[in-house]
Parts: sequence; C-alpha cells; structure tokens
Amino acid sequence: MEVKENLQHIQTKIERACARSGRRPDEVTIIAVTKYVSNARAQEAVDCGILHLAENRKEGLLEKQSLIQDPKVTWHLIGTLQTRKVKDIVGKVDFFHALDRIKLATELNKRIPEGQLNCFVEMNISGEESKHGITEADLDKFIDALAGFEHLRVVGLMTMAPNTEDTDVIRQVFHRLRILRDRIRERHIPYAPCTELSMGMSHDYEIAVEEGATFVRIGTSLVGNE
Ligand SMILES: *Cc1c(COP(=O)(O)O)cnc(C)c1O
Repeated sequence: MEVKENLQHIQTKIERACARSGRRPDEVTIIAVTKYVSNARAQEAVDCGILHLAENRKEGLLEKQSLIQDPKVTWHLIGTLQTRKVKDIVGKVDFFHALDRIKLATELNKRIPEGQLNCFVEMNISGEESKHGITEADLDKFIDALAGFEHLRVVGLMTMAPNTEDTDVIRQVFHRLRILRDRIRERHIPYAPCTELSMGMSHDYEIAVEEGATFVRIGTSLVGNE
C-alpha cells in the first residue's frame, strides 16, 4: 500500500478516536517509524506531508538523515541509547523518547553544548522485566534527580504497551501513563513541563488517542515493515 492511503486511513481512525474522547485531532502528532523501511520509503512519507520521523537506533537515524536532508523534518529517537553512543547523536535529534537512567542523562547533559534536548521519560508501567523504563514508584525520584541537568527538558512520558491482545490491559497502561503525566505536570517544574504523552503504535494507537496520546509512533501500518 502507498503511504498516502495508509496515512488517510490512520488519520480517519484518529479523528474518530478523538471524537469518541472529546479531543481535537490537531492535538495528536503522527510520527512515522521508519526503522524497518528503506530511505526511499521514508522519503515517500515525507512527501505525503509527514514531518515527524523516528528511528529506534542511532545508526538508522543517521542513515535516514544523511539522505533526507529536509529542514522541515523533526527527528525522533525512540529506542534506548547506549551511553557511549550519545556523542554521535548530539545535535541531530529533536526529541528523545527513551530517557530511562541517570547515567544516560548525565552523559547527554555533558555532551549537549547548548540549548535543551526534548526528552520523554520512558516508563515501564506493565512491570514486564523485558521492558526498559522507570517504574511508577521511582518516577518522582527520577524527575527530581534531573534537576541539575540544564540541557535536558522533560516534555512528557513515553511507554510501550504490553505484548497482549487484551485491549483492557493496554488501555489501563495508557490510562496510568496519563495519570502520571498529569501528576508531574501539576508540579510545574521548570525543566519538566511534562505536557506530552508518547504512546500508541500500529496495533494500539486508537486506544492511545482515546487515553490522551499527543504523539503516536506508527511504523508497520503506516510505512510498512519490509
Ligand atoms: C518499532 C517501534 C514502534 C512502531 O511499531 P509498529 O508496531 O511497527 O507501529 C513504536 N515505538 C517504538 C519504541 C518502536 O521501537
């Protein structure tokens, strides 16, 4: 399928999810996750007007960027980052969705020469051992520990839904992330406005939108997976 058709389908679904939950579609930004696809396919997404692109690995991000040199594109790194690779992405990423440990925050802060990197704190809500992310119990402490890092700005929280067909379980995870987001937002911390929610992928973005997602990260059903 062409990206254009997929996009139209997804936009319709998002509009309906917004209508069901009393939201406006312009509150939701679609990020095309291009990690499985070619540079040409990523370019096709940009040509359809998708101006937010994401990769989960540093290598993929740099490769896509070297070919899609479009200043209108906002780049998202959505996967975990090894501390030793931080230096390679500094200045090249607009949003980082996987801030999950202080050691990484320290390295990012040290390497970013000026300005602030927009970060999402990645949360492990479901408690699955295989998942990255901060647990609910550690969130406040983690946010507090970021206080001294002048180059990091916590724009929101991110999570991945558990691997299950049970939509109630998925919904609960997204709902919980929203409650945590609200809690941090209400603290009015200058370095952590925490207004955004990065949640929802190909199979669960409609639920995520109903639960308040402001960024959905869609790969397979938007640009494909081969
Ligand atoms: C791959 C990936 C996605 C997109 O997954 P799809 O199921 O293909 O939509 C979203 N978020 C993260 C963190 C990913 O690694």
